[in-house]
Amino acid sequence: MRRRRQKPDREKMAQILADAQKRNETRSLGYRERALALFPHVCGRCGREFTGKDLRELTVHHKDHNHANNPPDGSNWELLCVYCHDDEHQDAVKRDAPVKNTREIHSESDLGHNPFAGLSDLINKDEDSTN
Ligand SMILES: [Zn+2]
Ligand SMILES: [Zn+2]
Repeated sequence: MRRRRQKPDREKMAQILADAQKRNETRSLGYRERALALFPHVCGRCGREFTGKDLRELTVHHKDHNHANNPPDGSNWELLCVYCHDDEHQDAVKRDAPVKNTREIHSESDLGHNPFAGLSDLINKDEDSTN
């Protein structure tokens, strides 16, 4: 027979909850610390090395630009100095903008003029999947 604890241990539950909350907080705040622990303190772009007080200028860049995506192995992080980090995001804006615009124009004209736009999308999708 299995023995089960009947008494709900409220204090213990509260403690577990508090611990989990604390862990969540450090998880969301601590990716910089973890990135600094994982990678050498060198800017991934200009190669400048950061030590001591200067370390504040080394920031964590999210490669997919999603700050909520923080895999513990650091695969989404890149250490960049504040200047290169700034550049990186400026370039991304320049790079992304024209692509997004043409995509929007295409889909708008498809919907406006072609009643079979959905159909051709399906066909295109099939072709894509075979590639
Ligand atoms: Zn740099
Ligand atoms: Zn960034």
